[in-house]
Amino acid sequence: MDTIFSKIISGEIPCEKIYEDDHVFAFLDIIPTNPGHTLVVPKKWSSDLLDTDEETLKRLIVVVQKIAKAVMEATGAVGVNVAQNNREGAGQKVFHLHFHVIPRFEGDGYEHWHGKPYENGEEKLVGEKIRKML
Ligand code: AMP
Repeated sequence: MDTIFSKIISGEIPCEKIYEDDHVFAFLDIIPTNPGHTLVVPKKWSSDLLDTDEETLKRLIVVVQKIAKAVMEATGAVGVNVAQNNREGAGQKVFHLHFHVIPRFEGDGYEHWHGKPYENGEEKLVGEKIRKML
């Protein structure tokens, strides 16, 4: 699949490269949430988390951890979010699996998504439905 990220990996489109090995590539997000926001992507194309093979995921998550530590140390962040959007309905824009590694700073103004409690007993039904799909 030819995505903007495949072109970045092949060098066709420039990027600020952070890391590369045989299977994984990482570079700075061009419109960062905070400076140091890094994208970690597999070289082997898959669209999102749901269609990615286990071997690729294992390799990727180890690099995500490595990058998260480096980004925190390099930027002096007080925390780091690892975020990942799947499918258009969840805000995914580039259909090539990627993890966002986002350093966080005191008072940077970003909020977590908001939650709302279950109605009476609803969590049992939802839980049951999900367990049936496993
Ligand atoms: P998502 O919404 O999870 O698909 O995120 C896609 C991310 O890719 C966004 O945060 C964009 O800023 C980033 N992005 C798009 N084009 C480029 C590019 N050429 N170089 C670096 N990051 C990019």
